[in-house]
Amino acid sequence: MAGVRTAMSLRELGWREGITLLGDERHPPYDRPPLSKAVLLGGDADGDGAPVDNIRFDVDFDALGVDLRLGVRAQALRTASREVITDAGPVGYDHLVLATGAYPVALPGTAGLPGVHLLRTLDDAAALRPVLDARQQVIVVGAGWIGAEFATAARQAGCEVTVVEAADRPLADALPAVITSHMRSWYEEAGVELRTGTAVYAVEPGAVVLADGSRLAAGAVVVGIGARPATGWLAGSGVKLGADSAVLADDRLRTTAPDVLAVGDCASFPSARYGERLLIHHWDNALQGPRTAAANVLGGDERYDPVPYFWSEQFGRFVQYAGHHTDDDTLLMRGDPSSGSWSVCWLRGDRLTAVLALDRPRDLTQARKLISRSATVDQALAADPSIPLMSAAR
Ligand SMILES: Cc1cc2nc3c(=O)[nH]c(=O)nc-3n(C[C@H](O)[C@H](O)[C@H](O)COP(=O)(O)OP(=O)(O)OC[C@H]3O[C@@H](n4cnc5c(N)ncnc54)[C@H](O)[C@@H]3O)c2cc1C
Repeated sequence: MAGVRTAMSLRELGWREGITLLGDERHPPYDRPPLSKAVLLGGDADGDGAPVDNIRFDVDFDALGVDLRLGVRAQALRTASREVITDAGPVGYDHLVLATGAYPVALPGTAGLPGVHLLRTLDDAAALRPVLDARQQVIVVGAGWIGAEFATAARQAGCEVTVVEAADRPLADALPAVITSHMRSWYEEAGVELRTGTAVYAVEPGAVVLADGSRLAAGAVVVGIGARPATGWLAGSGVKLGADSAVLADDRLRTTAPDVLAVGDCASFPSARYGERLLIHHWDNALQGPRTAAANVLGGDERYDPVPYFWSEQFGRFVQYAGHHTDDDTLLMRGDPSSGSWSVCWLRGDRLTAVLALDRPRDLTQARKLISRSATVDQALAADPSIPLMSAAR
């Protein structure tokens, strides 16, 4: 996503020189969000039953003058000679944009075990289709975004699904307990067993053994325990990485190496808006960052300071989040969380920092605008779901 978007933005902004796009997957570039949703059930992004090919980006690379090289893996970066060393030989550059994304974290000791799946690529999704078609009994490890979305699709296909989560609740890393406690019932209503506070001890053929000693039969195991920036190939290159393995980009998305920028899931950047460095593994960041990076390749001096945004579709619900919050921000419920649609606002003082909207897309749209202009809101009005959020702005 971020690589393709960078190429498109460069052309849109007037770059006339050559563009080479390297990618180690053999498929033409495609969109990932449908992989944990409609694609698993045999449809495209709209779920209309169209083939998987429909998630490919609708980009004519030849017409765009982009030399797209698929199945080529970058193995090292030599900044002194301005070369990317690939398994197909060295590729020179004047400007380099790193957009290698992230790879899913595997359960220790399970790499290559038959019946154990990760979900990041089109090939991963294709390998999971037969599991759903055969309605196998599935154990999902991790009640995060990907785990919840996969569990939703697997239940829809008629699989028996158990989700095992080491934390005491779903989405423990992303959201506070006061919110996630309401999400527990979503699993129950969908007929998914959710076992929290239990780590996986071992995966054996046909079974998952939990740390509490229980043994769960498993036709397939799907691991959704997070993703790490795919930056191992940059070791020794002079491009500085953070403790989280992300490329440490600056607020112009430049790295510590000359004329090397970084975008999307592989890079973190300092957010002036939030006063901290952010590593965002969501689609919108891979869409927005490339425009800034392309402008800066062209000699611009644009700062990247987005209002982060993402969505998730799980258990028949449309979950959207905009902004960024910390535990120190004040949390404001907007509506009744036991009802079908509600929102949560986070405030720093009276300034709106983030919103989570459950089937309330207008709250999301309005909050995004308010956050982008650093608006302050009247707390009593913001907590009243019958009043448009915009009207709570001071
Ligand atoms: C199953 C799934 C569902 C998702 N659903 C949502 C959603 O609902 N909402 C949302 O906001 N976000 C969602 N996301 C996240 C979103 O898709 C990502 O944030 C986005 O794809 C990031 O784009 P990227 O270009 O940075 O990285 P990627 O899409 O990972 O692209 C990076 C590419 O670089 C390649 N690569 C890596 N290393 C090398 C190398 N050394 N040499 C050559 N090529 C290399 C990779 O194989 C990959 O093709 C989802 C992600 C997944 C996996």
